[in-house]
Amino acid sequence: MDILEVKNLVKHFPVNKGIIRKREVGIIKAVDNISFKMVAGETLGLVGESGSGKSTTGRLIVRLMEPTSGSIYYNGQNITAMSQSDFRDLRKDFQIIFQDPYASLNPRMTVGEIIAEPLIVHRLAKGKDLDKRVDELLYLVGLSSEHARRYPREFSGGQRQRIGIARALAVNPKLIVCDEPVSALDVSIQAQVINLLQDLQKEFGLTYLFISHDLSVVKHIAQRVAVMYQGKIVEIAEKDELYQNPLHPYTKALLSAIPVPDPEAKIKRIILKGDVPSSINPPAGCRFASRCPMAREDCFEKECTLQDFGNGHLVACHSVTHSKNN
Ligand code: ADP
Ligand code: MG
Repeated sequence: MDILEVKNLVKHFPVNKGIIRKREVGIIKAVDNISFKMVAGETLGLVGESGSGKSTTGRLIVRLMEPTSGSIYYNGQNITAMSQSDFRDLRKDFQIIFQDPYASLNPRMTVGEIIAEPLIVHRLAKGKDLDKRVDELLYLVGLSSEHARRYPREFSGGQRQRIGIARALAVNPKLIVCDEPVSALDVSIQAQVINLLQDLQKEFGLTYLFISHDLSVVKHIAQRVAVMYQGKIVEIAEKDELYQNPLHPYTKALLSAIPVPDPEAKIKRIILKGDVPSSINPPAGCRFASRCPMAREDCFEKECTLQDFGNGHLVACHSVTHSKNN
């Protein structure tokens, strides 16, 4: 069953100039008309270069930010149309884990207080039950009850991310946006945190939107992957299909850039030429056209929309659509 459906979601940021009298000189189309669905219990990977709109998408889904237009359906209910007060009961179903847990953990609170806070805010536990629940959460993420009295600064990066995960889990969420949760960690620690997220997903039936600029990380955790470029989803498919049979030239370029451990492996790197167009007032047509090795004339004029290539493999590319039809 679909737990989430995002329909024509748009987030534009005005760009202002001038100190005394602000003038709007352009708009950043951070998220520009994206649509996708998520099935309960799955992990959807969201990949793309920095600035492609991944974090904005994640923030819109957990309603840390209101969209410019478009809708988000949660279990069939349009949550974007709900007032903040109607949304209050649903809010705890959505949690977000950030790249830098240190910045999101209050340095003046003990770890126990940090994890207890959402339980108190949502009135889910108090007194002895609260202490018990905090212990239980610490244990779930591989820490122990004596950690509750310590402060975030006393922990390593990986342990801090565990604290962030415990806090997110406290309210029994259904959907967690993981925004680059391991990008700041050492490679050896990354795998431990990914394994923890996977174990917790199995145990609690969680749904993850897993955001990363690193395709090799997403490969370990996601069942499906969506590729974003300049505010658009350009390709979405089952994981194996995307990694073995990428169709969009941008996805191909991203995949060719993943370092392979075998130096003998013959992988042809695709080096993208051309300028990265600014996401302020993006050009008409396909946003990737100026860097695309397959660009045709119509790519600079007409925007591409996602086309179905079978088995849930969707691609937005004039060239790919053209070669399929001919
Ligand atoms: P990603 O997470 O893929 O790196 P973001 O969603 O953070 O991308 O950003 C997408 C674009 O939107 C970028 O050009 C970024 O500068 C811009 N942006 C993000 N948040 C804001 C904001 N609050 N105000 C203005 N511009 C923003
Ligand atoms: Mg980001």
